[in-house]
Amino acid sequence: MKTITILGSTGSIGTQALEVIDGLDYRVLALAAGKNTARAEEQIRKYKPKYAAMADEAAAKELALKTADTDVKILSGSAGIKEISALSADIVLNAIVGVAGLIPTLTAIEAGSDIALANKETLVTGGDLVKKRAAEKGVKIYPVDSEHSAIFQCLQASSREDLNKIIITASGGPFLGKKLHQLKKVSKEKALRHPNWSMGAKITIDSATLMNKGLEVIEAVHLFDLPQSKVDVVVHPQSIIHSLVEWKDGAVLAQLGVPDMKIPIQYALTFPKRVNFVSEPLDLTKVSQMTFLPPDRETFGCLATCEQAINMGGLYPAAVNGANEEAVKLFLNDKIDFLDIAELSRQMLRESFEKTYTSAAEIFEADRKARKLVREMIK
Ligand code: NDP
Repeated sequence: MKTITILGSTGSIGTQALEVIDGLDYRVLALAAGKNTARAEEQIRKYKPKYAAMADEAAAKELALKTADTDVKILSGSAGIKEISALSADIVLNAIVGVAGLIPTLTAIEAGSDIALANKETLVTGGDLVKKRAAEKGVKIYPVDSEHSAIFQCLQASSREDLNKIIITASGGPFLGKKLHQLKKVSKEKALRHPNWSMGAKITIDSATLMNKGLEVIEAVHLFDLPQSKVDVVVHPQSIIHSLVEWKDGAVLAQLGVPDMKIPIQYALTFPKRVNFVSEPLDLTKVSQMTFLPPDRETFGCLATCEQAINMGGLYPAAVNGANEEAVKLFLNDKIDFLDIAELSRQMLRESFEKTYTSAAEIFEADRKARKLVREMIK
């Protein structure tokens, strides 16, 4: 039986990962989350991990009281999350939201645990560093993001030197087809209503702005060692084709499936094996049609911002990510309009950030600077 640690266990990916594990040969070593003590308590009682951590210190205290009759050891704060990440496990699934996931990923790599990576912000902000340390430690990073899992699956078919490019699909989000003037006053309720996927709030807003697709382009550049020019994006509203690869002879391979994150989660945990259905089978006659469009980079400026940021390199992706995280928070608190998210993130390309970095401290400094700039710009 293999051991697994789940970071972000109470979230959308974390809870689905635990459902997947119900059907696999895994023992849960540790769980970590932010502040949802009710769900964390349920998970501790069901999966009996040795350790659990809550990033929020008051939540950790509350959880320790609630689970005092069990054998679990409760840790607290970012130090507690780091301690959990440092436990040697066969695999650490990182489903924390935001740049808060970076140190846990780096810590798990140092411990020599393989990583199932949902936290795309890890590679967006620290891709150069994360890849370098993973290579030095011989740690494997398995993508959980459905698009990257699709590419990873397609890449098993031929040798890397025959790859021409990859094509990431995007659903287009709830505002597909809308123009800038129609997006001036959209409510957060509308932005939170994704047509195909049920996800956490931050990634749902990122899907509405297409920032999510931009972050995925950066993630793909790092995961698959490709220049940005070899990472295309195509809008495919039905979310049945999860992404594609094009080989040098013109053959294109795609991975299809119902839009259910349990499928890529399971693949990351069982690779190179495939195990039984964890979701419904795909019935193409029910899909009936699949359509494709170019992305509208003018209306959804975040995609182009990310493409530019990864080409500028260094700390620019971390800065754009930090600005976006801050802007999404402000939008969800009714402090800025929907279109401000793209504008504030784009401003980071005009600011000065280092073109190279070697430490996580530099990434967090860029993140802090970007968030501060955003707060100043809206005053
Ligand atoms: P959710 O918001 O649903 O869950 C986030 C999880 O992270 C929760 O368990 C939350 O705890 C925990 N958390 C928040 N802050 C911290 C912290 N500082 N330290 C430790 N844990 C923390 O997000 P999702 O599950 O939707 O997304 C998670 C990641 O996966 C994101 O990076 C997202 O981009 C990526 N992803 C998600 C997909 C999806 O379908 N949802 C698809 C592909 C990628 P609590 O709730 O207890 O506060």
